[in-house]
Amino acid sequence: MPKLAKRMGRAKPSAIMVIADKAKRLKAEGRDVVNFSIGVPNFLPGEHVYDAVRAALSKDSGQYGSNRGREDLLDAFLKHLEAGGFRGYERKHCAVAVGAKHILYNLAEALLDEGDEIVFATPYWTSYLDIAEILGAKITLLPCPPEQNYKMTPAQLDQALASKPKVFLFNNPSNPTGMVYAREEIAALAEVVARHPDTWVITDDIYNRMVFDGVGYHNFLHVRPELRDRVIVVDSLSKTYGMPGWRVGFMAGPEAVAQALVTLNSNHITNVPEVVTAAAVAALTGPQDIPARKCAEFAARRDEVLAALAAIPGVKCPRPQGAFYVFPDISCAFGKSHGGRKIANDVDLCAALLDAKGVACVPGSAFGEPRALRISYTCPQAQLTEGLKRIREFFAELA
Ligand code: PMP
Repeated sequence: MPKLAKRMGRAKPSAIMVIADKAKRLKAEGRDVVNFSIGVPNFLPGEHVYDAVRAALSKDSGQYGSNRGREDLLDAFLKHLEAGGFRGYERKHCAVAVGAKHILYNLAEALLDEGDEIVFATPYWTSYLDIAEILGAKITLLPCPPEQNYKMTPAQLDQALASKPKVFLFNNPSNPTGMVYAREEIAALAEVVARHPDTWVITDDIYNRMVFDGVGYHNFLHVRPELRDRVIVVDSLSKTYGMPGWRVGFMAGPEAVAQALVTLNSNHITNVPEVVTAAAVAALTGPQDIPARKCAEFAARRDEVLAALAAIPGVKCPRPQGAFYVFPDISCAFGKSHGGRKIANDVDLCAALLDAKGVACVPGSAFGEPRALRISYTCPQAQLTEGLKRIREFFAELA
């Protein structure tokens, strides 16, 4: 048989999907599984989105759409940007694609030649690593351990940018940690970014409407709008609007970058489907109250998870203020055993937790932090409480 391309030797299936699939399999076999593994919102968009889809279907002409994104969708996104504090953008600065993941892949393809350097923090969202590896980029990781609240310092960033990497990829609020940078932290990092003009900056802000405790959401451009010629903002409908399966992501940035994504779209997908476009316009222009209501619920759930973890001796957890994840340091369990099964690391722990207690969490090593595991807390409330009880039992049974 002929060989696959070499780059496929570097491509891995998403580690999150591997554990989510195992949880699904066990459930299908009749096991009582609590799924904390997958990062999906626990709400659907409002009826106005489905109405818009029905109306679009009834007048669908069956034609190809725009490579950049339909004009009414670009206009709706521009209004969304403005509501998020981003001013001065026009359609020519934007592009739409099949989810933020697709936008990020296309940006990496548009900005990175093989061997070019990309910098991002650990813990990182899994696909950052995989996308950079598939494209053969040189990856520089900025370690942001639990001891520094999973956040990078200006000094760390300054040092990393000194080698003039092609791209700095920044995620706020963070998946997997849920941490949110305060305005003064963003201002300090933006000052560093401003001193390193040779680097593109991608800000993956897809959880920007999911921030609690009044900490607010801030982007480098909010404090230094003059960075607009090399900061690229990424957003998505998936989390904010409860629409992960609809696959709509956006970018706003320099015209040439947006144009590069249009060129890639014209060769990859042609257009985001027309009925999906109608749904996206409805979501962005309809009632905007769901994220605010969900934030109150998620903050309460975050508190419940933190309280349960605080009751486990040795487990440490910085307090997240956004998204819907908690990322505790569970390394106190390493070297112990559960029911005779040795727990050497996070992968062993997650496997034993799933087998013994039916609770699915993602090992931290999937995000570059092997001392932790990720809990996504959007499952039904009764399952959340039950799953946390089982995690406490599991740790109490370690010997
Ligand atoms: N970035 C981050 C940080 C994410 O958590 C996710 C989804 N889990 C994505 C990007 C991709 O989002 P989308 O569904 O829009 O492709």
